[in-house]
Amino acid sequence: MKEIVNNSPGDVASPIIDYLRISLVDRCNFQCLYCMPEGAKLDYVLQQDLLTNDELLHLLKHVFIPNGFTRFRLTGGEPLLRPGVVDVVARIRQLPQTQDLSLSTNAFLLSNLAQDLFDAGLNRVNISLDSLDAKTFGQIVGDGNAQTRWTQVWEGIKAAHRVGFDPLKLNVVVIPGVNDHEVLDLAALTLERRWHVRFIEFMPIGNGELFGDRGWVPSEEIRQKIRDRWGLNESEVLGNGPADVFQIPGAQGTLGFISQMSECFCDRCNRMRLSADGWLRPCLLNETGQLDLKTALRAGVPTSVLRERVSELLQLKPEINYKGRESGTSSGLYGRTMSQIGG
Ligand code: SAM
Ligand code: SF4
Repeated sequence: MKEIVNNSPGDVASPIIDYLRISLVDRCNFQCLYCMPEGAKLDYVLQQDLLTNDELLHLLKHVFIPNGFTRFRLTGGEPLLRPGVVDVVARIRQLPQTQDLSLSTNAFLLSNLAQDLFDAGLNRVNISLDSLDAKTFGQIVGDGNAQTRWTQVWEGIKAAHRVGFDPLKLNVVVIPGVNDHEVLDLAALTLERRWHVRFIEFMPIGNGELFGDRGWVPSEEIRQKIRDRWGLNESEVLGNGPADVFQIPGAQGTLGFISQMSECFCDRCNRMRLSADGWLRPCLLNETGQLDLKTALRAGVPTSVLRERVSELLQLKPEINYKGRESGTSSGLYGRTMSQIGG
């Protein structure tokens, strides 16, 4: 089957959209402050509405790959809650066009799964780690024994490192008055380890109230703290995603800054998102243009038609991104949390 190049060669301004973030489940075993508001009653997808493994593989093989997608990230919710996640990894890895396969996790269940995921062909893991202090960590991730939770996550990180995931990325959402006092400690993790610590600006998705109360910390403010302590260089290792990459002089690892609040990077966006119930979303911050692929698939719409619909959406994506930014609308834009969309 002929592969479609999803943007025209002369169209230098639009990046090639070849990266699909796949949510395997919208549920989570944590309830992070910034992701799921306390006491929130989220409408979880019913079991029968989740894309099955076969449906997912069918869509990848016959709809997404022919449209030029070659890089896949499994996310959620918490993707390690999905029964058979190792099998999903193995099956996606076996598709010859898969160039990169990664997973975002809170690492709570990772220590027992890291080796199997690695053996199944997972290339990389990104782990959320918002604090090195068990108490603060507990305050962020919610109910449960904070020390046990933190220790189990740290065990998961160590297991990922041990089995060979490299680079290992740690994601930190920085919230004023909650964990911003820890940025130097977190940055220091890169001094002796080849880890990549990424500071993410808190977005008004998921917990608008907390966002309204606390606001967010601009990446430049964090960089300045790090610069004052150790110095900071732009890294020679270029990221291929939204992060700007830096390095403390002499450090083994690198630091990334995802600055979607202070510096819109919509014009670099190379991704789409597939929710656990099969909705394809072209832009995180704009609900326009979403396609319900699961319902269409189950209704027997021919694969060739689905492929064509996705191809059309790819052409529209730059316009959808731009319009969302231009209008600055917030109503409806953040109707679902990151855990529901597939962050
Ligand atoms: N459970 C996995 C995890 O925590 O890595 C994967 C899903 S989580 C929704 C994916 C990413 O979204 C995490 O790095 C998380 O920190 C980020 N995220 C969630 N809500 C956010 C918000 N309001 N602002 C910025 N990042 C957010
Ligand atoms: Fe769960 Fe990840 Fe959201 Fe935290 S950020 S509540 S771990 S989905």
